[in-house]
Amino acid sequence: MPRRTPLLRTLCATAAVLALSAAAFPGLAAEGDKPATRVRGEIPAEYRWDFTAIYANWAAWDADMQRMEALMADFGKLQGSLKKGPAALLKAYQTMDEIGKLQTKLYAYPQLQKDADGRDQEVAGRFQRALAVFARFDAASAWFQPELLTLPQAKVKAWLAATPALKPYAFGITDSFRKQAHVLDAKGEQLLSLAGPVGRASMNAYDELSTSDIKFPTLTTSDGQSVLLSPGNYQGLLAKNANQADRAKAAAAHVGTYGAQANTYAAIYAGILQRDWFNAQARKFPTTLDAALSDNNVPRSVVETLVATTRAGTAPLQRYARLRKQLMGLGEYHLYDSSRPLFASSESYPYKKALGLVLESVAPLGEDYVQRYKKFMTGGRIDVYENEGKRSGAYSAGVYGVGPFQLLNYNDTMDAAFVLAHEGGHAMHTVLAYETQPYSTAEYTIFVAEVASTTNERFLLETLLKKTTDPKERFLLLQHAVDSIIGTFYTQVLFADFELQAHQLVEKGEPVTTEVLNKLYAGLLKTYYGDAVTVDDFYQWTWARIPHFFHSPYYVYQYATCFASSAQLFKGMTTGTEEAKKAATARYLNMLKAGGSDHPMAELKQAGVDLTQRATVQAVVDQLDALVSQMEVEAAKIPR
Ligand SMILES: [Zn+2]
Repeated sequence: MPRRTPLLRTLCATAAVLALSAAAFPGLAAEGDKPATRVRGEIPAEYRWDFTAIYANWAAWDADMQRMEALMADFGKLQGSLKKGPAALLKAYQTMDEIGKLQTKLYAYPQLQKDADGRDQEVAGRFQRALAVFARFDAASAWFQPELLTLPQAKVKAWLAATPALKPYAFGITDSFRKQAHVLDAKGEQLLSLAGPVGRASMNAYDELSTSDIKFPTLTTSDGQSVLLSPGNYQGLLAKNANQADRAKAAAAHVGTYGAQANTYAAIYAGILQRDWFNAQARKFPTTLDAALSDNNVPRSVVETLVATTRAGTAPLQRYARLRKQLMGLGEYHLYDSSRPLFASSESYPYKKALGLVLESVAPLGEDYVQRYKKFMTGGRIDVYENEGKRSGAYSAGVYGVGPFQLLNYNDTMDAAFVLAHEGGHAMHTVLAYETQPYSTAEYTIFVAEVASTTNERFLLETLLKKTTDPKERFLLLQHAVDSIIGTFYTQVLFADFELQAHQLVEKGEPVTTEVLNKLYAGLLKTYYGDAVTVDDFYQWTWARIPHFFHSPYYVYQYATCFASSAQLFKGMTTGTEEAKKAATARYLNMLKAGGSDHPMAELKQAGVDLTQRATVQAVVDQLDALVSQMEVEAAKIPR
């Protein structure tokens, strides 16, 4: 199947946005090796990306651009040739691989430079040029997939069996035929493609209403300050403002802004649900969930088990809320109290120290992993510190044939150290997959991606806990882990639960009104938080402020399944007999090396994770339970 225009992976950004309850715990301003300057040229080269690993200079980029144009012309000439036999099919796939590899490099070279400093106009111009050429190739290669699927499947199967050189493409080819069951005839596909823009209308309306047209109120806090309650300021206020009455007013006013237009939001959301149900029925899926999971070949029971097990496992979530309530000395604990830091950290994590800790933490993954990681860390592949014009956040992006590149905005805090571990997990997944897999099966899916990152975060936590005896610092480490379980697991399952039920309303032909959606959301908050948290009425409108519901339905559950997988894998690699641990680690590394060579569920299964089983999800519940117990122990030791 023709690879789509390679867009560099920018994982994680979404997870951070979604972690509604994840609080920021800025440590004290730290003395470290963080440069005082924000001028990129003044930051030592060892902390900046070395782009020469991709191209020596723009002349080399230009030369490859020309090679790419020639290959695109060659590929066009192959149209109509596939029926000639396995040699012709192989030629088409190999040409596509060549084009794909070039595209990745041609894209990454300007893209990474743009992210490092977005103000360079020459870079921006070349980036646009690359995108235009790729779009042209997407259009010029659209013939390939339909032509492949006109070949009888049995014939292609025989070709695959008789032609070892086609092996790297076997998974993609077989999967195309699997998906064929839901592809309509030419007339049907044309109708669906005409309906595409109609299906996006609701999402566009949401974006305008929730960004362009929204007017956030201004709140005067108890100390006389005036704060415009935009999403960023609002989150900041919840974390920083020590006055509960201020937090209460801010939450009512911020969430209430969405509530004031709840009927419009509900009508828009109903449009999204109707679109999903239209597409599912048109493509002959029994439910919207089946349609959404089909691409990754994930069975419906995965989401259903996830939701059911989590609903039954909310006790530790509620215990954590009670612990917070007690430590904050509050009479009533509300949702808007969940972002306040409980203690300030006095520990700082300068970059080099954090690198050492992260490297040490992955020792259980074996000497080979550690050596490769070390090589990655020192090879000009991590852009460490912020500078003027650099994009915010953190990500890891792979360039096949070259390796991963990692962007950070490192600021010496504990959070930054965990981000370093997280992105390192992605980067090493890429290193191992690229080394093992041919281009056609090297890219792993989102479904498994966050397994590697959260596993490495867990390893770092373990190492830091071993080294820290101060109860306050131990408490903060445990809290970091707990907050990330709540942000990437519980909150996402609650969202998935909501989406599932909302879609089912439409599937059953029941009305989707503001009242129905409010009741659904408020009911879920009650189910998850019980009486440990006082849930104010205005939180019933929260669904209207979750962009994922409107942008990418049935997406967020993947954060939770990744988290559950990683919890189980970590347990396997760190408990039991030496022999069992070794075997679990080998299976885990094999999963990383598998890249995108199989469906994600199959990859996880060979690593020992079966997401259709309740026990897999229960591992997260158990992990949270253990962490909260440890927090209770440490909290009792902290002088107050
Ligand atoms: Zn990530």
